[in-house]
Amino acid sequence: MSIQILRPEVASQIAAGEVVERPASVVKELLENAIDAKASYIKINVEGAGKRLIEVADDGIGILSSELPIAVTRHATSKITDSADLFEIETLGFRGEALASIGSVSRFTITSRNNEASVGTRLRVNGGLVEEPQSLGTPVGTTVRVEDLFFNVPARLKFLKSDVTERRHIDELVTRYAFAYPGIRFHLHQDGRPVLQTSGNGDRREVLAALYGADIARQMLKVINEEDDSKVIGFVSPISLTRSNRRMINFFINGRPVQDASLTAAVVQAYHTFLMVGRFPLAMLYIELPVNAVDVNVHPTKAEVRFREPKRVFSIMQGSVRRALLAHTQIPEIENPVEWMRPLAKTNSTGIEGSHWGISTQFERGLDVSQGRFTGADQSDLKTGHDIASPKISGLDTPILRLVGQVATTFLVAEGPDGLYLIDQHAAHERVLFEKLMAQRKESIPAQVLLQPVTVELPSSSARLLIDQLPILSRLGFQVEPFGPNTFIIRSIPTLLHGMDPTSALMVLVEDFEEDESPLETEIEAKVVARVCKRAAVKAGQVLSHEEQEMLLSDLEACDSPRTCPHGRPTMIHLSVDLLERQFGRRGAR
Ligand code: ADP
Ligand code: MG
Repeated sequence: MSIQILRPEVASQIAAGEVVERPASVVKELLENAIDAKASYIKINVEGAGKRLIEVADDGIGILSSELPIAVTRHATSKITDSADLFEIETLGFRGEALASIGSVSRFTITSRNNEASVGTRLRVNGGLVEEPQSLGTPVGTTVRVEDLFFNVPARLKFLKSDVTERRHIDELVTRYAFAYPGIRFHLHQDGRPVLQTSGNGDRREVLAALYGADIARQMLKVINEEDDSKVIGFVSPISLTRSNRRMINFFINGRPVQDASLTAAVVQAYHTFLMVGRFPLAMLYIELPVNAVDVNVHPTKAEVRFREPKRVFSIMQGSVRRALLAHTQIPEIENPVEWMRPLAKTNSTGIEGSHWGISTQFERGLDVSQGRFTGADQSDLKTGHDIASPKISGLDTPILRLVGQVATTFLVAEGPDGLYLIDQHAAHERVLFEKLMAQRKESIPAQVLLQPVTVELPSSSARLLIDQLPILSRLGFQVEPFGPNTFIIRSIPTLLHGMDPTSALMVLVEDFEEDESPLETEIEAKVVARVCKRAAVKAGQVLSHEEQEMLLSDLEACDSPRTCPHGRPTMIHLSVDLLERQFGRRGAR
């Protein structure tokens, strides 16, 4: 084939591919334009998950009739003029590509009236073909309608995910912008249903409630920190509220949602020693920096940025979050942990406290690890769910245990063939229930019908997740049906959860749920079961009768994988006789 310049339609579809990947990308570009136009009200209508219609209307400054045909051509922008401006960008847009790109892959109509004009203009672009503009009476502002997205790029349509997923991307995106711009009133409708309505009164916590649900929003801790020319404001979760992955950590830099691994690391580090390995906080953080400290021209959809002083931004972020956490949380700090292998004679006066911590931390670091899988489980990324069906640990599965008693209403102490075992009663019970339920699942899991069905309203993103999972839930004994927008009716719960508040039983399941790109049914099921068990298991702090303790031990012995809970954390710590002897100086450390 000879070398030739691509036809303009082909070239523009290639370019469009970079900007418009999915319906949510169209919403993003149109929202950014409305925000750049200083809108105080933005209304978004979506139909058919954005494939049939996306309409964004704003009351911003509008576009002059004479400029409308230019606005829809490539590389046409009012936001920058020369390349020096690229390093001083104050607006969200600057490439002049969005309208042209969207117009080339949809049936596109833009109607706008400039705030100084007496009439408006409408212009249609059909799959890249620009039609004649018409004048018409319309209020000041701009409305863009994007119909039949990707009608002329069928391959792209095939790559879209399910409607549920595409809708969720849109919901999340709009909610994030609503958080970044609390002074703008946002209304989002999907298929005629209101999904998000903010008042524009400047209250970020209100938006937080739409994003996470009222309960979580109430718990989130406020971060506010101003230093010289920079400012960090937003919310982070208390240490009691975590997720199994980093996806709920979000940033806005100068009003732009960005992904940044190093900022994420800064937030996670701020929680250092506060959270279990494999657990992550939630965060919504808004950072303002001087415009020339950030290069936004590094990513086609402007989703990533580069900092002039990355280390400084990292430390500002980490410091701001850490301070907020310390202000709100009392955490037992471990002072002077005893060095484990040091011979006793030299440990002098560290005291009982110290040696206690010494032992447990040493064990957590993996003394028993050569045989067990504590370290492996702790370090693996728990979000995959692969830990759930943990493999058998040969030879170590079933230590025969003799109960000694309960300590701190949290741990059981038992003697085994090779020393002492400390068992976390909650983790152990989780494991026991998990294996029981997974076994029962093959036939059918007993359910308890509620005398009085309960209705529960969820944030829209959770509601969508739940809809996906209804079939799985019903196999597990949860009979739940949709009941109006974002509302569900619970008719039965698994017998295992007898006595528990049905609403909170259901909430646990959706709270932490992840969108899996290609979820295996069995994996989801295992995840849901693990979550039910976590809820149903006895808690730390719960007094157990001698019989209950015995029962728990023997049930645990009978498990296929007794050593870890379904989430991969250890159920037991083993102190070998050998180790005890060393610790008591009965055997000299050589
Ligand atoms: P960019 O935002 O990068 O400048 P776009 O293709 O998104 O490029 O938009 C082109 C131009 O059209 C913008 O620079 C702006 O002048 C104008 N424009 C687009 N949307 C709006 C809007 N909602 N209100 C006012 N002007 C708009
Ligand atoms: Mg734009």
